[in-house]
Amino acid sequence: MLDALAGQIESRRDELIALTRDLVAFPTVNPPGEAYTECAGFLGERLRRRGFEVSYIRGEGTPGDNDRYPRTNILARYDTGRPGACIHFNGHIDVVEVGRGWTRDPFAGEVAGGRIYGRGTCDMKAGIAASVVAAECLIDSGMPLCGAIEISGTVDEESGGFGGVAYMARQGLFSKPRVDHVIIPEPLNVDRVCIGHRGVWWAEIETFGHIAHGCMPFLGDCAIRHMGAFLDRVERDLLPGLVGRRTDMPVVPDGARASTLNFNAIHGGMSEDHDGLMSPCVPDSCRLTIDRRFLVEENLDDVRGEVVDLLDGLRRTRPGFDYAIRDLMIVLPVLADRDAPVPKAVSSAIETILAKKAEIICSPGTYDQKHISRIGHLHDCVAYGPGILDLAHQPDEFVVIDDLVHSAQVMALATLDLMGHDAFSR
Ligand SMILES: [Zn+2]
Repeated sequence: MLDALAGQIESRRDELIALTRDLVAFPTVNPPGEAYTECAGFLGERLRRRGFEVSYIRGEGTPGDNDRYPRTNILARYDTGRPGACIHFNGHIDVVEVGRGWTRDPFAGEVAGGRIYGRGTCDMKAGIAASVVAAECLIDSGMPLCGAIEISGTVDEESGGFGGVAYMARQGLFSKPRVDHVIIPEPLNVDRVCIGHRGVWWAEIETFGHIAHGCMPFLGDCAIRHMGAFLDRVERDLLPGLVGRRTDMPVVPDGARASTLNFNAIHGGMSEDHDGLMSPCVPDSCRLTIDRRFLVEENLDDVRGEVVDLLDGLRRTRPGFDYAIRDLMIVLPVLADRDAPVPKAVSSAIETILAKKAEIICSPGTYDQKHISRIGHLHDCVAYGPGILDLAHQPDEFVVIDDLVHSAQVMALATLDLMGHDAFSR
């Protein structure tokens, strides 16, 4: 029975490729949130024809939502009419900007050398295609399935998921009793099951100064120099210690198993789009955005506290130093139970299909699992999909077609397992 199902999916290889390419052709770049409605409509129409009940949910009033760029999500449900669990596949339809360095057309879905190229192939339209074909194959198999299968295509994951999964979770769409198990086909590699991620603290730090003519800087007080002093303290007193803090969470790649801090942006003084209109001033403000990823073993107050301590130290010792700090985003670490039904079903399906042991991992970055866990209070959730993690957001992003097929087979088997059909007891 399992072999037959895997064979059914193998025979739909061309369909998997075609669906991935069709999805990639929608340039759903976020920001601003291009072509969301068209992409959601395409996915919804396909699933409606296959017997799913389809609804569109707009993330009204969420960041970026307006009539030009509506945050359109699609939710499809196939009810077998027999009591049982509901397995939900949640994929985000948005992609990040194209960026430089491409040698392929980012939205053509070029097929070459056993791969499909394009923005969003890896992260994560191939994953969506795999879940759709896996579900359709199960339905077409004629097996007396129990429960329900849901597929959602949601927006804005790349910008925090507020108009997508967070919005829908607030409406109870990612909670029991409606949904029992969730698989998010994010690209973490075809043989790995992801059960969570580190925490995130984004903050903006502003240093202040005193404006004066740039030809007489001694009459002012330069906010950028004050920021420079802070950066120097971070380099010397904070970063070296972070590398040594290691988590027991199985985060990949290995470098992300430690605490990390990135400077995401810095700006002070004259506007960056000055257009040749120079302004010779001593800057009185400099703003820095920091991106601190913290471990399940750390606590947010301590994480924030060690940055504030450096700033307060400078305020005491450096003449004229003053600052403000504000939180931009906080995401607490998420860690699902590796012995819960979904991680077990997906791991065992990986062993069946790929004939190797599944690796249980955590993601270096966050993804929509946080909203499902914290807003939906649904914890039986993993990320599992065909893409190669390191290729996400890169130029010439691609997905390996064999991985695409294998992941769809894994998803179908895992779904069958979770739906509790006796075909699974071989
Ligand atoms: Zn993604």
